[in-house]
Amino acid sequence: MDALLEGLDPEQRAAVEAPRGPVCVLAGAGTGKTRTITHRIAHLVQRGHVAAGQVLAVTFTKRAAGEMRTRLRALEVHGAQAVTFHAAASRQLRYFWPRVIGGPRWELVDHKIRIIGRAATRLGLPTEAEALRDLASEIEWAKASLIAPEDYPAAAARAQRDIPAPAEQIVRVYQGYEALKAEAQMLDFDDLLLHTAAALEDNAEVAQEFRDRYRCFVVDEYQDVTPLQQRVLDAWLGDRDDLTVVGDANQTIYSFAGASPRPLLDFPRRFPEAVVVRLERDYRSTPQVVALANEVIKWARGRPAGSRLRLVGQRPEGPAPVFHEFDDEPSEAAAVAAKIKKLMDNGVAASEIAILYRVNAQSEAYEQALASFGIPYLVRGGERFFERAEVRQAMIALRSAGSVEGSLPLVVRSVLARVGLSDEPPAGGAARERWESLLALVEVAEELEAALPGADLPRFCAELDMRAEAQHPPTVEGVTLASLHAAKGLEWDAVFLVGLVEGTLPIQYADGDEAAVEEERRLLYVGVTRAREHLWLSWGLSRAAGGRKYRRRSRFLYGLLPDEHPAARVARAATPKKEKPTCRVCAGVLVEAQAVKLGRCLSCPSDVDEELLTRLRAWRSERARELKVPAYVVFTDATLVAIAEQRPMDTAGLVAISGIGASKLDKFGSDVLGLVRAGSGY
Ligand code: ATP
Ligand code: MG
Repeated sequence: MDALLEGLDPEQRAAVEAPRGPVCVLAGAGTGKTRTITHRIAHLVQRGHVAAGQVLAVTFTKRAAGEMRTRLRALEVHGAQAVTFHAAASRQLRYFWPRVIGGPRWELVDHKIRIIGRAATRLGLPTEAEALRDLASEIEWAKASLIAPEDYPAAAARAQRDIPAPAEQIVRVYQGYEALKAEAQMLDFDDLLLHTAAALEDNAEVAQEFRDRYRCFVVDEYQDVTPLQQRVLDAWLGDRDDLTVVGDANQTIYSFAGASPRPLLDFPRRFPEAVVVRLERDYRSTPQVVALANEVIKWARGRPAGSRLRLVGQRPEGPAPVFHEFDDEPSEAAAVAAKIKKLMDNGVAASEIAILYRVNAQSEAYEQALASFGIPYLVRGGERFFERAEVRQAMIALRSAGSVEGSLPLVVRSVLARVGLSDEPPAGGAARERWESLLALVEVAEELEAALPGADLPRFCAELDMRAEAQHPPTVEGVTLASLHAAKGLEWDAVFLVGLVEGTLPIQYADGDEAAVEEERRLLYVGVTRAREHLWLSWGLSRAAGGRKYRRRSRFLYGLLPDEHPAARVARAATPKKEKPTCRVCAGVLVEAQAVKLGRCLSCPSDVDEELLTRLRAWRSERARELKVPAYVVFTDATLVAIAEQRPMDTAGLVAISGIGASKLDKFGSDVLGLVRAGSGY
């Protein structure tokens, strides 16, 4: 078979082989969405349906875009663009600027807070750093949501935003910020997107040239698209439909910034002829990790219909996730470092381990603990790889090395020996970090040689420049410290989710706002699903060593801990299917008939889809009238609730609900499935 199609399951293959046109992959974490789109691009290019240069693949973070490029190169696709929305827009605007606007090119705003501070000062408003940051987030949200200053108060009220100042004041700061920017001929990131969309919308010739150039569009992590980015995407497309999107509504973690999973979930409605694929097999994580992920996300409330997925782990069994409570944060950090040491002694590479937290400030305790154990680490979002002094020095040395004979990795090694790459690693500390950075460059050389045999030193330097521009640092042999937001799309063998206390996850300011709390829950889901094998969740009851233990562990852990909900053991994924009906919430054995029907204990919380239930009830009355029977003859209340909770997508799912036998299936099956599907957007 075609090499590209090997290593794909039938659903992934369906998405890869779909002809040019709209394709939508809706699937949970670790199911191979990113793998599917990169293979699809490679497939379309290989079959000659599109030239690599006509493909524009976008995503939301530089790191994720770098990941896509690396995967595309491994598939031998060269020349396809895989960049962030911003990078794509900024490149296009630079190209079209002389034609659509003219005059000197814009300057990019690099001190937004300072400009907002000036606007606030003019208005006599407070200018503490915190206040300005809050104002900046509101302005960013408004711009990403395509909301002009005048419309901000109404829009913020509609979105029930918890605003940091009276709406009228925010309007004036927003206006002031825009005016100051315009005076200085500056654009911020959002302006770049807006101008790009406008250039294509308002200028037929520009649009024509662009559309001749790019013909095939792909979006990864589509659940995080903002209205502004969607507008750019629509401008790119024009009236064409060659668009592949993939995403997981349960990983929407930027709605505070205006992102919405709606375009993803509505895609099949917008493009009724779209090939829609749902993936459920999780290739990343062990069944134990997958069971916990399912458990975390099952409790989500207010989810848009159609976002419910149940992941099925494909990897061999692994250790059960562990939960640990500590007296204080330093003890928590020390225990994490000790456990990491143990993993490394057992052969897990440091680069295959991550510590993830909610806010960047949490990293410090862990940096200290790791350092005291002599464990190398890197902080994502800390000093960037290509900005480190030793890396800059190495790049200068590499560029001025002239022509040297030998294989690329050997040549690179010999050049770097001059700037301190010894054969044996130094003992630790800064010297060790330096050494690790240099070695990482040799690894890039090895990768490049594998991908492009015969690549020479200048080609290697070009590769480094490209990576530097994309901020895609090579993997350094170190434990990753990162925020949950920064971890999206990535994976590690061992993941430590730390500091899981109320006030941190969910973060304090989310409290009381259900939508915000749900976003925090999705962050935990993102965190859990980063782990391939080892997963650790912990919290400390006080901040400082020996401090008062006033903290409580995160509400999201309720029902997940094996000891307090014995029946809900997350490790139960390992146990074979039980014959007795069990509760899908707490896994306890069900006895009462009504509980069996619902598939959960009557005392366990319901996750009924109210909207669907209302529709089902209305439908039932109608059918009962038509058939001239009492409503319960069609379906009992308990059965309707069970349908609205379990949302079966096919006949198999429907008959699995007790009380629905062959004759009911015959009479009502297609009606009910139609109602469920209509609500889920497919
Ligand atoms: P996320 O939602 O976290 O971004 P994703 O759906 O994009 O996840 P990928 O990163 O594409 O998932 O895949 C997860 C892991 O599973 C990767 O290591 C990938 O190589 C592997 N994988 C995906 N599909 C298959 C498959 N059919 N066979 C084997 N491994 C697979
Ligand atoms: Mg992905």
